Amino acid sequence: FAPWTDPQQTPLIEFRNVTKRFGDFTAIDSLSLDIYEREFFALLGPSGCGKTTMMRMLAGFETISDGEITLGGQNISATPPNKRPVNMMFQSYALFPHLSIWENIAFGLKRESRDKDAIAARVEEMLRLTRLTKFAKRKPHQISGGQRQRVALARSLAKAPKLLLLDEPLGALDKKLREETQFELMDIQEKTGTTFVIVTHDQEEAMTVASRIAVMDEGRLVQVATPPVIYEQPNSVYVAGFLGDVTVLEGKARKAGDVYELDWAEGQPPLRCASPLTLSNGQTGYVAVRPEKVEIHRNRPEDDNVLRGKVIDIGYLGNLSTYHVELGNGQIIKAQNFNTERDTRRSFTWEDDVWVNWTDRCGVLLEG
Ligand code: ATP
Repeated sequence: FAPWTDPQQTPLIEFRNVTKRFGDFTAIDSLSLDIYEREFFALLGPSGCGKTTMMRMLAGFETISDGEITLGGQNISATPPNKRPVNMMFQSYALFPHLSIWENIAFGLKRESRDKDAIAARVEEMLRLTRLTKFAKRKPHQISGGQRQRVALARSLAKAPKLLLLDEPLGALDKKLREETQFELMDIQEKTGTTFVIVTHDQEEAMTVASRIAVMDEGRLVQVATPPVIYEQPNSVYVAGFLGDVTVLEGKARKAGDVYELDWAEGQPPLRCASPLTLSNGQTGYVAVRPEKVEIHRNRPEDDNVLRGKVIDIGYLGNLSTYHVELGNGQIIKAQNFNTERDTRRSFTWEDDVWVNWTDRCGVLLEG
């Protein structure tokens, strides 16, 4: 079930040519974006690209300079934050230290002056959902960081918002707990059916949790797509470099049958590559190739895109090793090998003369 691929469905959230200016600085530049119900949507981009501003406009903490935001078809651009069916969870969690976990979760519901039994039932439900029932009587300082994060989530979901905004929700957790919690977050999102929009600096986290990712640059959207499309078919060198590791080679493109050939360096063979673009002969293009798509060999393989080089660096990561292979012209190509039983026999060491290659489907030819 992937509602965002259904053109019949109306989006839950629509940004229509939204601009946000701070004085004469444009933080968000006529941006249009649809987010669908039940999506787990990630905003990704370098510091200052406008992610937090997008979230704050959605929550209603920031006014819009131009354009409009709709929620469920209604223009909410001028709706105050407390009148929007939207909640925001901050990295700091902002739990009340003197209140128990139970009372923390009940806090927002009490302010809505709901019926006492209804509040209790909802709090119990949230405690079960976030596996916190046995900690209900404790204070925030008496539970772990991961548990506090779940309290903040339970509290944010208690009022059943249509949209939950998560600003670096796992930022305070260590790597291992963070990875575990990502799966919990996905599980809770799926169970509640709430639309989540997350801002994270951790690209792997966005790839893991999100149904779609928007990559931003200077207040604009560069690409909006599912994680595999963003990773395998980035629409620019910028996106390719933003998610995961990549070697980028610049050259002049030439059409060669179904694919392109890129003349990229004196004395090096041209590189054959597929491209989603139409490039004219002689146009500057960039081949972006992921290290795991580059094979490394002791003997010259019979294939396309074969380059000769020397191993100058090895990064051992346990499950895999990354080799830096320096070509005759000084260019470094990164190649990765899994250290499986079969592949350890193909391991290399410093100064080894090797061949690297990749198939023409694996290098994507892009514009800058
Ligand atoms: P980070 O990842 O560092 O949190 P971000 O992508 O969330 O960055 P924003 O906080 O949305 O970026 O800021 C976008 C741009 O708008 C930045 O250049 C920032 O300096 C500017 N900006 C944000 N808030 C204000 C403000 N109140 N007044 C002036 N400029 C602002």
